[in-house]
Amino acid sequence: MTQIQLYNTLTRTKEKFAPIDADNVRMYVCGPTVYDYAHIGNARPVIVFDVLYRLLRHVYGTEHVVYVRNITDVDDKINARAVKEHPKMELNAAIREVTERTASQYRKDMLSLGNLDPTIEPRATDNIAEMIVMIETLIEKDHAYIAGGEVLFDVNSMADYGKLSNRNLDEMLAGARVEVEAHKKSPGDFVLWKLSDENQPAWKSPWGRGRPGWHIECSAMSQRYIGKHFDIHGGGIDLVFPHHENELAQSRCAHGTSHMANVWMHNGFLQIEGEKMSKSLGNFYTVADLLETKKFGARAWPGEVLRLAMLMTNHREPIDFTKKRLEEAEKNLTRWKSAMLKLGLSFSEKNREEYQALGPCSKLLAHLANDLNMSGVVAELHRHAGGDKEHNARRLFGSMQLLGMVTFDGMQAFEEAQNAGPSHDNSDQIEVKIAARLAHLNSKEWGEADAIRDELTAMGIKLKDGKDEVGNRVTNWEVE
Ligand code: AMP
Ligand code: ZN
Repeated sequence: MTQIQLYNTLTRTKEKFAPIDADNVRMYVCGPTVYDYAHIGNARPVIVFDVLYRLLRHVYGTEHVVYVRNITDVDDKINARAVKEHPKMELNAAIREVTERTASQYRKDMLSLGNLDPTIEPRATDNIAEMIVMIETLIEKDHAYIAGGEVLFDVNSMADYGKLSNRNLDEMLAGARVEVEAHKKSPGDFVLWKLSDENQPAWKSPWGRGRPGWHIECSAMSQRYIGKHFDIHGGGIDLVFPHHENELAQSRCAHGTSHMANVWMHNGFLQIEGEKMSKSLGNFYTVADLLETKKFGARAWPGEVLRLAMLMTNHREPIDFTKKRLEEAEKNLTRWKSAMLKLGLSFSEKNREEYQALGPCSKLLAHLANDLNMSGVVAELHRHAGGDKEHNARRLFGSMQLLGMVTFDGMQAFEEAQNAGPSHDNSDQIEVKIAARLAHLNSKEWGEADAIRDELTAMGIKLKDGKDEVGNRVTNWEVE
């Protein structure tokens, strides 16, 4: 069996992965707070943990892996959005409208990026009773107390609070800029339950009508669906503190366990063209913007290109998301897909079952199992694409299929488009590219001109440069 190794934030080392129960491998990843479109940064943990989910399924068997990704549908940002969008609607109805719409947009966006649905996608609002039970337990065990209309977790009641983020309380407080509030025993104490007024969603509880804090949601949902102690907990690096530190504290203290999850994994952050993505800088892009509009790089981008662009970097490193990166991803995809056809694969119905059963090559699998070493994976895909046997093409398809980079249907469409030759649309696009390349040649911008020629070569277009009667550069083209 392939030995997976994963970098664990908790121990700060890469460790051999040993599931608690190999017949029931369990992973929890913090999902979206549903009040607005997901931005491209939010897509990174989804893609990274989708690849891990696919790897786990490959190694342990599809039916032996459970992946839970929650939907946070109770949050003060949601209330604010609901009131703003639907000022005349009854609050609960307005909240439901915003959360339902946002959650279905999220699902659509994530599917467009080639991600599988998680096994279970629980909603916080369906798990309020579980949260209340957990808070009661924490109060009983003296890990929580009631003060100022809130139930608070007492961080000093847990000896190794801070171990995950590796900070002592003073450092954490400085980092989180927690306001000193008079009713707290310690400024680091965080909210488990807070009272609601008539303009806030509310559930009955032993402490009055109120709503849960954010962290308790994930502790309650993970326990309900995958137990008190599970294998992997994931999210973006910004969640280490306070969210994961607090989840871990709640779960361990409520259950009296030494671990919540054995492995804690965190993806690095994504920037846009060298800058932190933010609305105020005007460089904020939703997944839907990139898929459907021309806001970024003056064109729309296919989901598979966005996915590969994300996967060309190892998951813990930061990503600089640039137009150049997307172009490179597109070029790689075209190269790999063309290679499969050139090396003799044909995506006709009679081959469907056989091809869909193809798996990855062992070298690629070894890179993937090595803490999702994507640079090794990408090199291996290039190696197969450069091969000269049908065997290489089979490995290439089997590997890309495992990674969610291609599907049989996608390849079928690609093959049909290749056989049909450049369509009218396509030939317009080609003429535009050739004109742009000529302009670069005339300005002696050789690098830019070469990049366009490479792009066209990848599309199967061969260029012939020449001069007309008066000595101007002209370029003719044909399909290879
Ligand atoms: P949020 O809705 O802010 O809780 O984010 C949802 C998920 O997206 C979390 O796992 C975050 O860590 C992750 N995330 C948010 N922004 C970025 C970013 N710029 N790059 C990578 N991951 C991000
Ligand atoms: Zn969470």
